[in-house]
Amino acid sequence: MIVILLGPPGSGKGTQADKIKKILNIPHISTGDILRESIKKGSPIGEKAKQHMQSGGLVPDDIIIEIIKQRITGADCKNGFILDGFPRTINQASALDVLLKGKSLKIDKVINMDVDDKIVIERISGRRTCRGCGTNYHIKYNPPAKENVCDKCGKELYQRDDDKIETIKQRLVVYRKETHVLLDYYKEIVISIKADKGIDKITDSLVSLIKTND
Ligand code: AMP
Repeated sequence: MIVILLGPPGSGKGTQADKIKKILNIPHISTGDILRESIKKGSPIGEKAKQHMQSGGLVPDDIIIEIIKQRITGADCKNGFILDGFPRTINQASALDVLLKGKSLKIDKVINMDVDDKIVIERISGRRTCRGCGTNYHIKYNPPAKENVCDKCGKELYQRDDDKIETIKQRLVVYRKETHVLLDYYKEIVISIKADKGIDKITDSLVSLIKTND
């Protein structure tokens, strides 16, 4: 099962992918998480990605496509995977088509998580991320049991540089310019859901959509 979650930053793709991976038993592949991990390690990819990410822009397609190419060959991907934050451009979407065709695989579901900019800004500006395992929280809607401490690994929570208000606005501009067109690219298979409800309700909608065979 290959699932793509589309939607603007802050639409909840990461939160939902993390929940549905356990239900579907397939990995969650987040290019944003992979890039943040590369930055943390100080790897050459991280160095190249850093500035683009801090300014709210996109990391060049060739870097991202190579990351995905490597990642989907992992043994854990043999029964499929959930893509979150990829593809983000038409170029990436067509590269994915080529990669999948080469493995005789196909995309099963493309789900667009539709949410207004106002909600995006509220969600992202309240988001806090764990320095250790990358789990996301929200200071109001999904707080950790103990302030600023990750429930899963006990490490400190922080606000990502690109989650600050000016960068969020820039990320939304980039989303409208580069990524929104993917709704047209996938028009034959994309399904939109309203992603402004509570976390568990959205998970239920997603799981029933994914399990429907059409
Ligand atoms: P995310 O965690 O998905 O919001 O991604 C954080 C940042 O990583 C984005 O704002 C981009 O700078 C970069 N990034 C993540 N995925 C991609 C992608 N598929 N293409 C280009 N840049 C990406």
